[in-house]
Amino acid sequence: MSKLKAYFWKEHTDVDTGLAVVAKSAKRAKELGYAYWASDVGVEPETFIEQRVNWLRDANVEGLKKETVLEHHEGLRRNMYGWIEDGCCDDCGDTDMLYHHEGKALCSACIEKDEVEVSADSSQS
Ligand SMILES: [Zn+2]
Repeated sequence: MSKLKAYFWKEHTDVDTGLAVVAKSAKRAKELGYAYWASDVGVEPETFIEQRVNWLRDANVEGLKKETVLEHHEGLRRNMYGWIEDGCCDDCGDTDMLYHHEGKALCSACIEKDEVEVSADSSQS
């Protein structure tokens, strides 16, 4: 049985945004990504698009049991999205642009705060 991998699916090579898809193969990731995207934007399933999938080597797929498309927040925590818009920060709860930071989805203010604390810790040792 092949293992699940994380892929970033895009409708076209020239777009920046896409979907975090967990699948056993790139082929399957395309099917899942396309089906999700098509149901979301309402295109006809047979519409031709130049979809692309990239394997995300650094993403965390631990604990995932089935092939799926991950919603933004969970996908960001697993390092499958670079950033998300209008997310709810895991630390302060503010709605802001969020980034992946050590398994959490955080706003830039919380990431800065965290990095200051880390450097303060290391200077004590
Ligand atoms: Zn925050």
